[in-house]
Amino acid sequence: MRDQARAVVIGAGICGSSVAYHLTELGWREVVVLEQGPLHGGTTSHAPGLVGQLRSSVSLTKLLMQSVALYRTLRAGGEPGFQEVGSLRLASSAARLEELKRQAGFARAVGLEAELLGVEEAHRFFPLFSKDGVRGALYLRTDGSARAPILARAMAEAARGRGAELCPGTRVTGFGTSGGRIREVHTSAGPIRTEVVIATTGIWSPVIGRLLGMAVPLVPFQHQYVLAGPFVELRGPGTLPNLRDPDRLVYFRQDGDCLVVGGYERDPRYLEEEIPSRENPTVLPFDRKRFESLWSGGETVLPALRGAGRVKEVNGLESFTPDGEFILGESPEVKGFWVACGFCAHGVSGSGGVGKAIAEWIVSGESPLNLWQMDLRRFAAHTRSRRYLRERAAEVYRTYYDVSYPGEERESARNLKLSPVYPRLVQLGAVFGEKSGWERPNWFSSNEKLAEGQGWPRPAGWAGRAWSPAIGAEHQAARERVALFDETSFSKMEVSGRGALGFLERIAANRMDRPVGSVTYTQMLNGRGGIECDLTVTRLAPERFQIVTGTAFGIHDLAWIRSHLPEDGSVEARDITSSLACIGVWGPRARELMQAVSENDFSGDAFPYLTAQEVRLGEVPARALRVTYVGELGWEVYAPTEYGLRLWDTLWEAGLPLGAAAAGYRSIDSLRLEKGYRYWSQDIHSEYHPYEAGLGFAVKLDKGDFIGRAALERAKAEGLSRKLSCLTIEEPSAVALGGEPILLGSEVLGRVTSGGYGYTVRKSIAYGYLPVERSKPGTRLEVELFGTRFPATVEKEPLYDPKGERVRG
Ligand SMILES: Cc1cc2nc3c(=O)[nH]c(=O)nc-3n(C[C@H](O)[C@H](O)[C@H](O)COP(=O)(O)OP(=O)(O)OC[C@H]3O[C@@H](n4cnc5c(N)ncnc54)[C@H](O)[C@@H]3O)c2cc1C
Repeated sequence: MRDQARAVVIGAGICGSSVAYHLTELGWREVVVLEQGPLHGGTTSHAPGLVGQLRSSVSLTKLLMQSVALYRTLRAGGEPGFQEVGSLRLASSAARLEELKRQAGFARAVGLEAELLGVEEAHRFFPLFSKDGVRGALYLRTDGSARAPILARAMAEAARGRGAELCPGTRVTGFGTSGGRIREVHTSAGPIRTEVVIATTGIWSPVIGRLLGMAVPLVPFQHQYVLAGPFVELRGPGTLPNLRDPDRLVYFRQDGDCLVVGGYERDPRYLEEEIPSRENPTVLPFDRKRFESLWSGGETVLPALRGAGRVKEVNGLESFTPDGEFILGESPEVKGFWVACGFCAHGVSGSGGVGKAIAEWIVSGESPLNLWQMDLRRFAAHTRSRRYLRERAAEVYRTYYDVSYPGEERESARNLKLSPVYPRLVQLGAVFGEKSGWERPNWFSSNEKLAEGQGWPRPAGWAGRAWSPAIGAEHQAARERVALFDETSFSKMEVSGRGALGFLERIAANRMDRPVGSVTYTQMLNGRGGIECDLTVTRLAPERFQIVTGTAFGIHDLAWIRSHLPEDGSVEARDITSSLACIGVWGPRARELMQAVSENDFSGDAFPYLTAQEVRLGEVPARALRVTYVGELGWEVYAPTEYGLRLWDTLWEAGLPLGAAAAGYRSIDSLRLEKGYRYWSQDIHSEYHPYEAGLGFAVKLDKGDFIGRAALERAKAEGLSRKLSCLTIEEPSAVALGGEPILLGSEVLGRVTSGGYGYTVRKSIAYGYLPVERSKPGTRLEVELFGTRFPATVEKEPLYDPKGERVRG
């Protein structure tokens, strides 16, 4: 074994093999793959290998499509590891059929072939299923079945052919670090010096993470399947497509003249004991009793299973995460240490694309795709707790095959992070949603009565499920009177030190060198000009800045900032979220309200737009920022957390005579859509640059160099090919949820990034990237919702207050 390597991959399962394959493909030669047991002997050794590509997020679907593209080409010992048999997803309930219609649209919008079939047509593809209760099916022709060990072997051998060294029987026992960077891997065969380590260690990843004091939030669950048969019906040429019937919790895959029968039972079992570090603990004794519910669901779908033999029974351990998404990326704490794990029973489907993305990310320094949903930097501190992990991951597993309604809230592990205002929110009838552990009001049931007689339509179908007329009433309060928003959950950071200004000028696209007290909206870009962070920066002192970003984005954004800090210690970046409560006060009467409780001057001259001041509201010392995400006059008020409740009470009491209403996050979404304010992770992210996102006003090319500047200059010179555009859908009750295709005839032009109803403009609004030549206001297009096309028109944006008079007033 080498004693020095460019990169060390830990684990020779399908994921580690893929990472080694792609790193060597990109020209890295000295790559060492360490495997404690035999090659490809972990969870990879017993996966039945259904490869499905369609998932709810664009990036994940793209990763899975890349896997299939690669798997088609791989062979080991002359044997192919992938068979393109296609897949069928049955709908055995009305809700599921709706979901399939939505998925068919989404698939088209991301360029994946998918076809909605009637029962008879589907039956012709898979004549063994009972048509009883089945209402339709989604057919994906390019899905398939994999033999994971063959694929892993093919990739590992290709990597070896390009210079990688494979070391079975070599266990990683520790690491050497210095200066916050990985320097050495300790193994049972001696140390290896390296500056890049990728842990593709499946269920062992938390153990590996702990060697570095780092949390990898996944839980091993028992996942079972049976190989049933043989069936005479399966003898002969051809292979049936894979079949899933999520309403019956089961999946099937033909294997010779037998069938794999597996699924997601309602009473999942996680591994109770500590993850063993022995060679291969991933196979456990089969639990027949627990498999019963899946078997009987299987018999309902495939009557041929009744009385069928069982050739093999497998109980394997597989990693699940608290949000059902993969865990990818570099540790924010230890530079050069990467993880790729937490595959939630999709590691075979995912590994091809994951290995490619991770390798490109390592080699180029930037993620090629927007991998935010899978990013290691999305986890808040409580996700390190075993209790939280187990509770939430069990809910993810249990509900894995449930119809997935956007905006639906999780039930387990709630009430973790509470704002000081929480008791008042409860008294006002807040209906809470959860974000990163925070309980946040979606709306207040007490406001429903304010909506009477307004005539806002209830959004049709799914968009009308988690909905209340109170959302409209709260929106209206902000537009016409004044609304109070508890925004304590916002992520807040402070960047300070003698080099702070220079550092922020280099990392942000907008100008930071503005007078103390300025508030600046800015993006932080990657080298391609893609938007990595979207935030507001307040200059508190010449070299001290407060940065505010979305509730869920704090860890990610802080990690991005820290990863660019100068090494001389001249700048410090720290999270200050817990130290400050935040209340948004917005609406035409916001000034009156602030003035009513304060001796400070809130007039337009004394307190202009995009400035901040230290003030007192009642007895409460606070920092007020004149800024808005709803498009109205007003302030974000930050106060030390212990004053938060008093701050709310002070504002609330003074606000009541002015018609103040408490307002929740769903009204913010409606308000910001009317104003065209972008939402990072949906409308904008690392794959889009500010010009195409319509944020050119926040880019200052003339301020000197900054990260992404060269790419933006190129983009400007080349001209835009696509543009984030605002559409309104003709039918006001047809409300897009995100991901729906935007069409011109049969051509898919783009997909909806954000959708919602605008209660002031009384229109259904949808944003999406369109080719520039189709983005002219007045262009007539269509948006497809649940299989129905609705006429839509490209609008000049923003729809509300285009001159910004309300905000500056
Ligand atoms: C019953 C079952 C059914 C499944 N069905 C499907 C399916 O149909 N489709 C699908 O896409 N996915 C499926 N999966 C999931 C899939 O099998 C896994 O996600 C995938 O195999 C994970 O691969 P991996 O390379 O990340 O992990 P593994 O294959 O577990 O590899 C990790 C390797 O790391 C090694 N390692 C750990 N610690 C150390 C150390 N300290 N030093 C050196 N080496 C170490 C281990 O020995 C192991 O070989 C299924 C899983 C199960 C259990």
